[in-house]
Amino acid sequence: MVRPERQRKIIHVDMDAFYASVEQRDDPDLRGKPVAVGGSRERGVVAAASYEARRFGVRSAMPSIGAKRKCPDLIFVKPRFDVYRSISRQIRTIFAEYTPLIEPLSLDEAYLDVTENLKGIASATAIAEEIRARIRAETGLTASAGVSYNKFLAKIASDERKPDGLFVITPKRGPAFVAGLPVGKFHGIGPVTRAKMEGLGILTGGDLRARTSAFLQEHFGKAGPYYFSLARGVDDRPVLPDRVRKSIGAETTFGADLFTVEDARAALEPLIDKVWSHCETSAIRGRTATLKVKYSDFQQITRSRTDDVPIASRAMFEEIVIALLGPLFPVAKGVRLLGVALASLDVGPEPGVGRQLRLPL
Ligand SMILES: [Mg+2]
Repeated sequence: MVRPERQRKIIHVDMDAFYASVEQRDDPDLRGKPVAVGGSRERGVVAAASYEARRFGVRSAMPSIGAKRKCPDLIFVKPRFDVYRSISRQIRTIFAEYTPLIEPLSLDEAYLDVTENLKGIASATAIAEEIRARIRAETGLTASAGVSYNKFLAKIASDERKPDGLFVITPKRGPAFVAGLPVGKFHGIGPVTRAKMEGLGILTGGDLRARTSAFLQEHFGKAGPYYFSLARGVDDRPVLPDRVRKSIGAETTFGADLFTVEDARAALEPLIDKVWSHCETSAIRGRTATLKVKYSDFQQITRSRTDDVPIASRAMFEEIVIALLGPLFPVAKGVRLLGVALASLDVGPEPGVGRQLRLPL
């Protein structure tokens, strides 16, 4: 692995309980109360939970029914994505005053490379504090920031002092910090990989560090060398602007047009499987699910949904896709093609693995 010549300065900015905080900002009645943004219906999922709700164990990506059970007074609020998107643009405008190297991970989260920043400020910590203050002043919302010498550690750092906090991991402290970290906290290590690691006796960064590169390659394939580097606090992935467009997708054209929602659902199954298993094997998670429909007259439409957190399971991915499909039925004309895709990717193993991939089916 090639080490960069000079130490980079990376900031990860993450809005605190973003959707829920926006709702509490705009509706004083919701302040200080347990709020979940998302559907309260049977198949609904919590998109974001206020800190008051989190005290009850309510988390984003949790089914709404389970959330209500944990917190009977939970107030469900419908998401207002237009508002979230416009605030997202506001914070990106602030970022852009400091650096053009902005890599958004979702509406409320981004990596910034401020090694060579536009204001000539030497301290990344000072920049992070300025950005947090400006976000607060201009949006009335709080953000947390992590400052470090690579993306992996900056992202972990932003989580350390949430909400409304800042945490710095210096090159000197990096390796020791990683050693104490549970592997489940590593960006790019999802539940499946974590379980596999735990089965091998690897519970922390320290355990990971004790394994040879050959061992990790044997058990985790291409991701092995990446984990080997992470265990040493090394992550050379650059901050890539415009990553939002990259996606993983699969689609299929039918021999005979489909007309019923049941047939369409059945036809989506293998596509969902294909995309999801690719995500599993490459440790990629996406926040945006997209459904593509082409009709018999070749009119094509897409429907998508972006969540605050990566879609955590195949079941959840399917649920979102089915929710996007439902309103399109009944159809006036036959469906000749269906496609699904995951975008707004969080890439684990390799830089570049998140680029548009087309999976043949
Ligand atoms: Mg956030």
